Amino acid sequence: MIQSSTFNGATREFVLKTLTYRNGIFAACAATVTPCSNRTLILSEEQADASLGHLERLPTELLQLVIGVATLQSTLALRMVNKRARIFVNSSIPFKYVRLHAMPAVGVLVLTGMASHFTVQELFEALCSPACSACGQLGEFLWMLECKRCCYNCLRTLREFMPVHVNKITRAYYGVPQEFFDSLPVLATLRGTYGRNLTRMKPKSRFLSPSVIRKAAVQVHGGADALETHIQTRVSSKVRAVLECELSEAARFMASVRLPVYDPVAQVRYYGLSCKGCQHAARGAENALAQQQALTPEQELHLLERDRTYTEEGYLEHYERCFASQTLWRESCSNNLRNG
Ligand SMILES: [Zn+2]
Ligand SMILES: [Zn+2]
Repeated sequence: MIQSSTFNGATREFVLKTLTYRNGIFAACAATVTPCSNRTLILSEEQADASLGHLERLPTELLQLVIGVATLQSTLALRMVNKRARIFVNSSIPFKYVRLHAMPAVGVLVLTGMASHFTVQELFEALCSPACSACGQLGEFLWMLECKRCCYNCLRTLREFMPVHVNKITRAYYGVPQEFFDSLPVLATLRGTYGRNLTRMKPKSRFLSPSVIRKAAVQVHGGADALETHIQTRVSSKVRAVLECELSEAARFMASVRLPVYDPVAQVRYYGLSCKGCQHAARGAENALAQQQALTPEQELHLLERDRTYTEEGYLEHYERCFASQTLWRESCSNNLRNG
């Protein structure tokens, strides 16, 4: 609820317009496909008139259950078989909402190969869960390697969102055979610009989630201690250094795609709002970065605050403790008075 005493009777719409903004960088920093290629490749309305084979005999309810457990890739393929299949797929609840609200993400999941590893239901659940899986704040992105939501700050900073290359160094580090990777969700990166600096990246790197490969390697070695012993005794310090050093920030964003939140109760789709007050407060940190100076802990904090996003209610709660927002509001009120 908006406190009219706090905002001098101003409407919620006016308050939010004055104090928040949409951070344009979020729309550009992760993997994307053009709407045109999405329509052509992923969701063509044309379909063949083939038979569903054994599936043809299934009653509607069972067919819906099949769609519930099929991968996103299989579901899209099933939809193209014939008219009946398309009607079934389109009417299944998770696909219906994914199609309405997350098609750009679906296109990226298909082109990166991730659509073969997750179900429509899993994507639907991520679409309807606003919280970052790591910190619980509102998240704007899908970490594609595990089909889970994350926020911009966690994506940029946490080790769990730093992908691992599929190559012989990774194999040597984890002590696993080449075939080992075949069963894991491997992401093929797309050409594009990534991260806050919109770094231009070439396609065709192959990435794995660090936690997925670790978990699988623990099984291969027969336990976490055995894996650790292997790393400490059998892996050269050179290989360890390569694996344990971080890839560029852009690599993190190559394994992510922007995902709106769908609220099934209110039946609305939304992206988060950013705080203009925090944006102002971070200017000192931005200047320091531009001059390649080291940031103070306070400046680091300002950058993290700037890159948080909020629901409308979440922002109004944030306002109560954001002095920069309160200053901005007072300045905006006195400017309005001056301008009559
Ligand atoms: Zn987070
Ligand atoms: Zn703020």
